[in-house]
Amino acid sequence: MNSIPFNKPYLTGKEGHYIYQAVLSGKISGDGVFTKKCHTFFEQKYGFKKSLLTTSCTDALEMAAILINIQPGDEVIMPSYTFVSTSNAFVLRGAHIVFCDSRTDHPGMDEDAIEALITPRTKAIVPVHYAGIACDMDKIMDIAQRHNLFVVEDAAQAIDAYYLGKDGSKRPLGSIGHLAAFSFHETKNIMSGEGGMLAINDDRFVDRAEIIREKGTNRSKFFRGEVDKYGWVDIGSSFLPSDIIAAFLYAQLENLDDIQRKRMQIWTSYYNGLKELQDNGFLKLPPATPYSTNNAHMFYIILNDADTRAKLIDHLKANGIYSVFHYLSLHKSPFYASKHTGGELPNSDHYMDCLLRLPMFYELEPADMDRITGTIKSFFIK
Ligand SMILES: *Cc1c(COP(=O)(O)O)cnc(C)c1O
Repeated sequence: MNSIPFNKPYLTGKEGHYIYQAVLSGKISGDGVFTKKCHTFFEQKYGFKKSLLTTSCTDALEMAAILINIQPGDEVIMPSYTFVSTSNAFVLRGAHIVFCDSRTDHPGMDEDAIEALITPRTKAIVPVHYAGIACDMDKIMDIAQRHNLFVVEDAAQAIDAYYLGKDGSKRPLGSIGHLAAFSFHETKNIMSGEGGMLAINDDRFVDRAEIIREKGTNRSKFFRGEVDKYGWVDIGSSFLPSDIIAAFLYAQLENLDDIQRKRMQIWTSYYNGLKELQDNGFLKLPPATPYSTNNAHMFYIILNDADTRAKLIDHLKANGIYSVFHYLSLHKSPFYASKHTGGELPNSDHYMDCLLRLPMFYELEPADMDRITGTIKSFFIK
């Protein structure tokens, strides 16, 4: 029997063609034709004031930390249950990370726990839209406004996901905070192997973001003919991707609706296939979140304990199905445990021990879905 991997990057078919076009265009460094097409796509579809492709979400987060002028000793609040890049970007600038626990019903940060973590040194809140499910952005933006803090959305997993406001509004994730970082790593819905984007929603950051992304120079202005020479005007690095990466990404963007529709079918098929196990108390499925759409980035289940999860991983593997757990709480990591100043974060640890991600990629077919859900059922119901 074929094995089912955890992830398989989906190619729409046009990637190679667009890469060839980019190569033929004679401008394969950054900010070529395809980069501009991608920027326009994101700005028009999601209403970001400015969109800038980067070589990764990690880079976009590092740009955000520079833009909000993080200084040594500044504090940044974020969930402990997240990827290292969320915190690394701020640690690189000398910030102290103040970790917030996850919600009991969802791995996203507990919005009601944020305010108690704020001190006079707090500079920013970094919500992570885990599995593309929105954090309660009205609540977070209100806290930030009252305490004069920046909000940087880690929207790595949140492409084409929306926050549903209490006023009936539907706003794209990444368009709400001052800044937002997206990932196009091959494990994400829309991908270019490695890749990312900084979305800027506050005009104050637009000019400086272009400079930081171009090694601290005003080269972008020069290329647009707005200045007659360019030079070193600020700190920065090389955060922009080659147009070859953008060409790949653009082929994916043209197929965004199809990709999202297919992933949603897979997600729904998991949900329906495993509901019975939730009803019988064997596991928990992702909860309904009234303030978020679902972009089908991930399908995860929560087991009752770590031992059951380990055994289920083995059972799936014995049947050729590859499932993976996710983050190790950052406040317990070898690098940060001794620096962590807060208390226990039991919800984060619970997801660290009990959350399991199931295979999720475009090419999963109904027969695969039956096989995966059937194998999970056979583990619990002998
Ligand atoms: C994938 C991911 C990142 C990192 O993205 P890269 O593009 O690989 O740098 C950061 N944060 C979260 C929450 C992610 O899921």
